[in-house]
Amino acid sequence: MQQPDPADQVPAALTEWALASLVIHADDEFAIDSAIAPPIHQTSTFRANSAADFAEMATQARHPRYYTRYGNPTLERVEKVIASLEGAEAALVTGSGMGAITTTVLALVQAGDHIVAQRNHYMGTTKLVTEILPRFGVTTTIVEQTEVSAFAAAIRPETKLILVETPSNPTLQLTDLRAIAELARPRGILTFCDNTFASPYNQRPLDHGIDLVMHSATKYLGGHHDLSAGVVAGSQALLEKIWNAHMVVGAVLGPIDAWLLLRGLRTLVVRVKQQNQTALTVAQFLESQAAIEQVYYPGLASHPQAELARRQMQGFGGVLSFAVKGGYAATQRFISALKLPTQAVSLGGYESLVVHAAAMWEGTLGEAGLVEAGIQPNLVRFSVGLEDERDLIADLQHALAQV
Ligand SMILES: *Cc1c(COP(=O)(O)O)cnc(C)c1O
Repeated sequence: MQQPDPADQVPAALTEWALASLVIHADDEFAIDSAIAPPIHQTSTFRANSAADFAEMATQARHPRYYTRYGNPTLERVEKVIASLEGAEAALVTGSGMGAITTTVLALVQAGDHIVAQRNHYMGTTKLVTEILPRFGVTTTIVEQTEVSAFAAAIRPETKLILVETPSNPTLQLTDLRAIAELARPRGILTFCDNTFASPYNQRPLDHGIDLVMHSATKYLGGHHDLSAGVVAGSQALLEKIWNAHMVVGAVLGPIDAWLLLRGLRTLVVRVKQQNQTALTVAQFLESQAAIEQVYYPGLASHPQAELARRQMQGFGGVLSFAVKGGYAATQRFISALKLPTQAVSLGGYESLVVHAAAMWEGTLGEAGLVEAGIQPNLVRFSVGLEDERDLIADLQHALAQV
């Protein structure tokens, strides 16, 4: 039999593959022996074979086999997969989503700089820009994410960075990624998007002109509630800058967790497709219920930004939120009556998780803060897992009968 031409075995451009193929094959080049599953490089340091080798390793930026805080082949492999999913040149994995956000922001701003951020961000992001960075002379203007004109009005000559997060937590509001990128690019301002709620299957911010994208890989990318990780992806040049801060911040992902993340990523597309489908069915069911005041889900025609959702997302994700008629106590009764979804923070995994939003954020925001963030006392956040949608709906129906 004729030997196949090696060139035929490698598609011309990896980026031409669909995401379902990329999650399986984007790291093929790293295969080192006949094992299908990748090895775990559970080591903190790497041997040099000669004095000359050592000198070379020590001076090369981001050498994957020098010291694990600097890089590690298992981490490099998962970075390759995630970069390909986001259509990015490069990625950096970190020990948590907050590690990725903090390292990235620290790498990009200095005293005197100004940031524009949204009213609704992940709590840690809000704390970083409103409490920690001001101590180092970096100021932030907070704007309404749904108003592009508010971003435009907040920009100053010293603005270096615009932070966005879409859909946002917990009321699934959207930010117009293309409009923000078009605002920032000509002014030399960098844009950084938290894409955790969407996952790269549903939304790829770089395709809309955003410079950097991050994930709490603890959520959809890992998908199994068994690890903490973060990732930032973008151009090679920006990632080099971020890596320089990463070496100092030290939010390193352990090799075993990187391996678990890679394993979780293999099923990202099938999981998210299913979760999109189930979340839409659940959202539509809840919207039809008399005991429900309002449902927030970007895939519903009733979402105030449904048109934008269809423009920048290819699926609407597995997280929705809704307000139960009857206030705080009724909402507690409703949640307590649920049998399938577990009451726990986090989202994006195989198991449905539910939280009473007001109870979750009361401690950090206070009552006035809850109102400002649009978190009503009767708001429930529901992260749809991989259970059968008929069972989830029967469970919701039963719990609604208790309120
Ligand atoms: C969870 C989360 C984070 C923080 O990620 P960790 O992995 O918990 O540090 C950031 N942004 C969003 C949208 C999140 O849901």
